[in-house]
Amino acid sequence: MADSIFSKIIRGEIPCLKVYEDEKVFSFLDINPIAPGHTLVIPKEPAETLDQLSDESAAALGKILPLLCRAVMKATGTRQYNILQNNGKGAHQAVAHVHFHIIPKPNSTEGLGIQWPTRPLPQEQGQEILAKIRDAIAGTVI
Ligand code: 5GP
Repeated sequence: MADSIFSKIIRGEIPCLKVYEDEKVFSFLDINPIAPGHTLVIPKEPAETLDQLSDESAAALGKILPLLCRAVMKATGTRQYNILQNNGKGAHQAVAHVHFHIIPKPNSTEGLGIQWPTRPLPQEQGQEILAKIRDAIAGTVI
């Protein structure tokens, strides 16, 4: 399990601008925001990536995220926003503790810029990956 800078923030060993806290979830302002109101929402459980998170922490995060989104949008007067959740260094995860970014998108220059290199899904490739994903789900106890 990770003991990252975010675990230290949860324990109060490093200061933060706290937005919200309950038994399983902690939320605070990002120290380097890409838009005003850029907020991080994290489980207290020190899982590194989302796939490693317990059902209990996942449920707690899922329950509170929409409320925090509404609060950030109200506070910033913004109606558009992105939720970003990176897993792994190659996927731009800098802190090895699960975190969701709530990033207001007030205009075209602030907030998240996204590259979305789409290409059509070849039928055969789609069927192949679909079968593998379904097999993986079937092999998991839900
Ligand atoms: P990632 O790239 O891992 O998805 O994003 C990590 C985020 O954590 C970054 O946006 C970064 O600014 C933020 N961050 C890193 N260290 C600290 C810190 O000590 N305090 C706060 N408030 N945010 C941090």
